[in-house]
Amino acid sequence: MGAAPKPEYELERLKALHAYNILDTLPETEFDDIVSLASTICNVPISLISLIDSERQWFKARKGLDTSETHRDYAFCAHAILEADTPLIIEDASLDDRFADNPFVTSAPNIRFYAGHPLVTPDGQPIGTLCVIDSKPRQLNDAQIDGLRALASQTINLLETRKLKAELVIEQQRQRLADEVAKIGHWEMDVATTQGYWSDQVYTLHGVDKETFDPNLDSGLSFYSPEEREVIAEKIDRLVEDCIPYVFEAKLHKRDGGEIFVRSTGRPRFDANGKLVSIFGVIQDITDSVESEQQIRHQHNFQELILNNMPDVVFVKDSEFRHVKGNSAFFELFPVDMRESIIGSTGVEEFNLDEVDAFQAKDREAFDTGFSETTERLVVRGGRAHVFYTKKIRFEDQDGQPFVLGLAQNVTERENLIARLVASNEELERFAYVCSHDLQEPLRMIRSFSAKLQEHLGDQLDGDTKGQKYFAFMSDGAERAQTLISDILAYSSISADTLAYAEVDTAAIAQSIYEDMKRSTRDRQVDLTVDALPKIVGNHAQVYQLFQNLINNGLKYQRPDATPKVQVSAQEFADRWQFSIEDNGIGIEPRHHRKIFDVFTRLQRRDQYPGTGIGLSLCKKIVERHGGKIWVESEKGAGATFYFTIAKTEHAGSSV
Ligand code: ADP
Repeated sequence: MGAAPKPEYELERLKALHAYNILDTLPETEFDDIVSLASTICNVPISLISLIDSERQWFKARKGLDTSETHRDYAFCAHAILEADTPLIIEDASLDDRFADNPFVTSAPNIRFYAGHPLVTPDGQPIGTLCVIDSKPRQLNDAQIDGLRALASQTINLLETRKLKAELVIEQQRQRLADEVAKIGHWEMDVATTQGYWSDQVYTLHGVDKETFDPNLDSGLSFYSPEEREVIAEKIDRLVEDCIPYVFEAKLHKRDGGEIFVRSTGRPRFDANGKLVSIFGVIQDITDSVESEQQIRHQHNFQELILNNMPDVVFVKDSEFRHVKGNSAFFELFPVDMRESIIGSTGVEEFNLDEVDAFQAKDREAFDTGFSETTERLVVRGGRAHVFYTKKIRFEDQDGQPFVLGLAQNVTERENLIARLVASNEELERFAYVCSHDLQEPLRMIRSFSAKLQEHLGDQLDGDTKGQKYFAFMSDGAERAQTLISDILAYSSISADTLAYAEVDTAAIAQSIYEDMKRSTRDRQVDLTVDALPKIVGNHAQVYQLFQNLINNGLKYQRPDATPKVQVSAQEFADRWQFSIEDNGIGIEPRHHRKIFDVFTRLQRRDQYPGTGIGLSLCKKIVERHGGKIWVESEKGAGATFYFTIAKTEHAGSSV
């Protein structure tokens, strides 16, 4: 038995067949009519439109046969499609090697005669046949063969039309969906009658019912406010008269109550003679984008409003250090004639070179590290000097481009005030220094002459207790005045001391204080421990005074019966030394921990513990001049530990 071979172009052939989406569809009269006609023309009982699928032949229309499909191996039509141009005519299948033992020949429907004309697509692919069959051997005359060919080509036409229709339906569905999603509709208006056609979406956009609404020029315009209506009508007039297309955006008042923003375009449409026949238009609901645009504008205005009322200077620079934005305070920095050109430029020409180097270094730092801050002095050409405390912060826009946001607080007033305060403070210190210095001499005179007077009076004072008491008051007062004045002198001379810093051996200082102390407290038991102490960089006299004050306080602020115990230690940190002076004395209530460092603050009465209240303020000043801090940790009655730090410099000494 001869099953037909599959043609070389089988894949393309199947693709062409499947593109018609015809297999396994229901019968359609157009195709049924064709097989009836073929039977009549050829005068045979069986006629088929057979489509050759990969493994079967399927009949789209059949006459005189009950089966809807057969295996491809037994299909006469599978042979017929091998020659696309000519019909295959088998006058007696029982005499043909290819078909003699075909089950459709040897048993029902006992085919003897077969004539099949290939169904060839416009691309040349044979997808099946229109065939006629008889159980008796026979022949076809030329007219019958022509008829068969004509019907085969008619079948292909039908298939093509069917395919186009299906594509059109899909396209329309897509279009409708796209219109719905984009809220877009189209319309057309006859220029002569002003009657219109609206797509479904246009009805939806207007909130009207397709069945009852009559679309025309007047009804279309009625959805807009009277003012807008006038503008739109004029645009339509211009289109009709001068064929100028138009576009407008307006608020549309929907018939069902809502309001939307629409963009509407209109274009002229001409007939074959170039005469304007209609306006074709597209209308789109753009409410969402208008609203978000309005929101952005509001937000923008809001930001501008804030930024522009801010006294601080705000600006944005790009990675080339060019200004891209600035607030009012920023523009006001520049003379009026320069304000227009400042955006887009670096502005470097307007400042002197040192200032440019300094602020661009800070721009660079912000771009590199994300942040920079500085206090800077700027003079814009021909303008006044300003001092700014400026922070710069890097940020990226949506495209990932880096920018720097600058926030500059004008601190000119504050800086001027600080400068004035510093100057007046220095003035006061100078005054205190001169006063205390010049008071020393007359005080010394009072002390020495009161001693001389006492000596001169000699025996006369014997028994004169009052006189002796007065002399005692005088010399005590003079002595205290002298201590006070020398303390004030020490305090006020710290700032004036411009002695260069040098290496200071704190261990040696502690040793010397220890020996002094041993000499002065010969009759009293004292326990002073000095741990290993480092060499530091500083002012020797000041560091000596610092240690002396703190150690002396530790020994002084004790209960009368106690054995004073003081321990001096040091701890090394990367950038500083930290010293501690710990005692076992009367301690200090935490609420006083800060104020004891203020000048003249004393917590005890003079008759309990003598002193001027200057010692710790002096210590604080010395420590601060050495780049450090001083503080105390203590509880009342539980001893006190004073800590202070001294910054390390490149000349810092060796470790402990
Ligand atoms: P002065 O010792 O001359 O009164 P200072 O400035 O040295 O002045 O100290 C201020 C006050 O701090 C002292 O009057 C005292 O009340 C308190 N004080 C200082 N050192 C100690 C200490 N080691 N223990 C307890 N109190 C202290």
